[in-house]
Amino acid sequence: MWTLAPSSDLPIWRATPEPHGVRLAFSTRRGGVSAPPFETLNLGRSSGDRLELVEANRERLLRSLDLDPRRLATAGQVHGTTVTRVANAGLAPECDALVTTTSGLALAVTAADCLPILYHAPGAVAAAHSGWRGTAAGMPEAALAAVCAAAGVPTARVTAHFGPCIRGCCYEVGDEVAARFPAAALRRVDGRWRLDLPTAARARLLEAGLVPESLHDTGACTSCEPHWYYSYRRDHGRTGRLWGVVARVDESTGGATAS
Ligand SMILES: [Zn+2]
Repeated sequence: MWTLAPSSDLPIWRATPEPHGVRLAFSTRRGGVSAPPFETLNLGRSSGDRLELVEANRERLLRSLDLDPRRLATAGQVHGTTVTRVANAGLAPECDALVTTTSGLALAVTAADCLPILYHAPGAVAAAHSGWRGTAAGMPEAALAAVCAAAGVPTARVTAHFGPCIRGCCYEVGDEVAARFPAAALRRVDGRWRLDLPTAARARLLEAGLVPESLHDTGACTSCEPHWYYSYRRDHGRTGRLWGVVARVDESTGGATAS
């Protein structure tokens, strides 16, 4: 259900069809104003890029989604499993996932190899940042539980989406990291481990009760495609950041408002 429109001025991953009452997207590195090595749609304030360019990129992306740049909530992202429930714009420190029931409030997580996961259920949305540490520690299902609690629905009513991240084709890890993951998420290549983060996250979400048909994946690898994505590993740490962004929206039809 995810589509990347490469010919667009601002090519981003969009859900097609987009679920009713929800706006969600994953960015690429194209369509922004940042200069190398952050070219061009860098959305990370702590990347080393000029902040005014990052702000311009954020505004450009949010406006393209018909979201208000002043109503943006972000997470401090400390590679933990804390989910913070928010109702207002601003930075929520010391957490890696955000959940809200508030319409029009955009939740964004940044990543450049880590897995961004977006969730929606009737009445709530969430965004989570899940690298190997967070995934091994339970971030995917912690955010799932938070969405259920906020919306007051069972896990079977939640839909989850995986954005671009580093995958088993590229993600070499050592023995200590590999030991934290099930065999299904690992491959042995030339005597070294390769970890597939989405496989690991998927297993955790299904174990927690997510319906398999309610999990969608862009399938994109950040490391494989330098023209499309930032990759912290590939670019040796000096690179931009991508976003996963989600919001509840009031769908207005002929003046009526539903939420
Ligand atoms: Zn790859």
